[in-house]
Amino acid sequence: MRKLLFYLLLSLGNIFVFSQSYECGMIGLSENSLQRSIPFNLLDEVEVSEQYILVKTHIVRENDSSGGVTIAAVNNAYSDAIEILSSNNSEINLIVDPEVNYIDNSEYLYISSQDQLHELLDIDDDYFRIDVYFVTYYYRGNGAAQDYGASDILIASYATDNTSTLAHEIGHCFGLYHTFHGTSTENDGDEDQCAELVLRTNCNDCGDYLCDTPADPKILQEHVNLDCNLIIPMDVDGNGQEYEPDPMNLMSYSRLTCRVYISPQQISVMQFIIQGSGIAMTEAQLGFANRPQDEPDTNYTQSTLDIINLDHSEFTIDDLWSGTET
Ligand SMILES: [Zn+2]
Repeated sequence: MRKLLFYLLLSLGNIFVFSQSYECGMIGLSENSLQRSIPFNLLDEVEVSEQYILVKTHIVRENDSSGGVTIAAVNNAYSDAIEILSSNNSEINLIVDPEVNYIDNSEYLYISSQDQLHELLDIDDDYFRIDVYFVTYYYRGNGAAQDYGASDILIASYATDNTSTLAHEIGHCFGLYHTFHGTSTENDGDEDQCAELVLRTNCNDCGDYLCDTPADPKILQEHVNLDCNLIIPMDVDGNGQEYEPDPMNLMSYSRLTCRVYISPQQISVMQFIIQGSGIAMTEAQLGFANRPQDEPDTNYTQSTLDIINLDHSEFTIDDLWSGTET
């Protein structure tokens, strides 16, 4: 069975985050939720620093190597995720290995059961990177992440161009709950979940346990117009106060194209998980030793975008920096 990525999660077992009918959902989470191990009261003290995360692409195809998502679609998904992470100053950089792993097995093109999902995510996964498996169809929706704080993601072919599914699943991998967690009860094993009030007076103990994300009664696409504004009226909370959720938050079920915002506390959670897990690439792995001293970091970030647009591998991760200078 797939081992969970993070040291903090070694005892959790193999629990998956599944998409529900619309986007993705959490079911079957074990009692030892990673979120409860996050020192929420200390989030303000988390130091946000530059992190580089290796990402491996797996594309499922037919037995005869036909079909499967295109490289263009894969690149599109990565570009969108990188843009969201970057525009929020998360300092989380995705380093996409340009060498794609093709899984030529027709049985996994259409994922229609949890068993299939488990089997697929067990193929060629790695402890110290994010593995993204692209399939044609996923019976629960757009995508799935493996548990809170885990490292495997499934993306369906029709979710490669909606701008936010991959970044949303990465959020789960780095410890984030949905913004509606608890306010709309989730069947994810978190027995402590409870509804957050609009006033956020209980934001440390309920909802997504973060105080800079408004209480969310689980807004869906139909509650948000094309301009990303809420279509009122909303439900009311326990105080009779109308909810004012954020339709822009990445971890909501809002309109997919609207989910572009990651709050500072959400970034702190992700940074906390990354820094405590050992998943971030070291400078040696990045080839920083070969980098000219006067080269700004921004050039490297740009190089990441260049790298993901390659459709085959001509160099290894150790060569990424020197490779982009030419
Ligand atoms: Zn989700």
